[in-house]
Amino acid sequence: MNESIKRAAEIIGAAQNAVALTGAGISTESGIPDFRSPGGLWTKIDPGEFSIDRFLQNPARFWKMSLDLKNSGEFDLASAVPNAAHYSLANMENRGIIKCVITQNVDNLHQKAGSVEVVEFHGNLLRAVCMKCKALEPMEKVEQRISSGQQETPRCNRCSGLLKPDAVFFGEPIPSKALMISQIQSQKCDALLVIGTSLQVFPAAQIPIAAKMKAPPAHIIEINREPSALHDQITDLLLLGSAGEIMSELDSLLS
Ligand code: NAD
Ligand code: ZN
Repeated sequence: MNESIKRAAEIIGAAQNAVALTGAGISTESGIPDFRSPGGLWTKIDPGEFSIDRFLQNPARFWKMSLDLKNSGEFDLASAVPNAAHYSLANMENRGIIKCVITQNVDNLHQKAGSVEVVEFHGNLLRAVCMKCKALEPMEKVEQRISSGQQETPRCNRCSGLLKPDAVFFGEPIPSKALMISQIQSQKCDALLVIGTSLQVFPAAQIPIAAKMKAPPAHIIEINREPSALHDQITDLLLLGSAGEIMSELDSLLS
């Protein structure tokens, strides 16, 4: 393993445009469950709850479910703090080693750790968005209105439109700016660090595929507890283990 991490450090150190693609697995060491690992979120909640059709059928029911989930402590993103993997990526960006982080996560932990160039591919659950005028409101404020009984279905302060968590639900498109930047980065990068993602969700999984298929291909370094669904097709260097431990080691090898 040590040899593989050294090799990864050499590749990233030599790269001109190293980029990271992260998924739920980078945040499990911050106490946020991922989806597909044992004990993950899908063992507790029906994925259909996060479909836009079901949300629109009964927004009040969704908001109550989401607040109950937060209050249970199982998915409390506002209280979560970044772990060593988030901090290592932020350090690496700070020193110019990583150009940007494309994240599928909605937990805001890269930003909390100090990463600046963060592409929120699936949005951010610490914000709510008005479905009518697109105004954003901090999730905390919206949740307060629900828990105080002021509003069962939260409404926009500006236009009274329906508020929805500012995350991409099943059946919704990827935000166009995030999609565009990711496509550009997948073409520009010469090394792609894929961290904590099973690569089963599209179009996010298209990013490393595109990076691998261009000429010359980017080096794909994968860090996961279990190999991703695409590892045999795209991964050049597979580092299996804790993202926090591996990223800390990579960070110190590169400093
Ligand atoms: P996933 O649950 O499908 O896969 C997680 C991957 O991370 C697995 O390969 C697993 O082996 C690995 N992993 C778990 N803990 C790890 C650790 N400590 N170190 C290294 N690897 C670890 O996650 P996904 O591919 O990101 O897909 C889930 C989707 O759900 C994402 O698109 C995301 O939007 C959303 N989601 C986000 C959060 C969050 O914001 N933290 C949490 C759950 C789900
Ligand atoms: Zn509005």
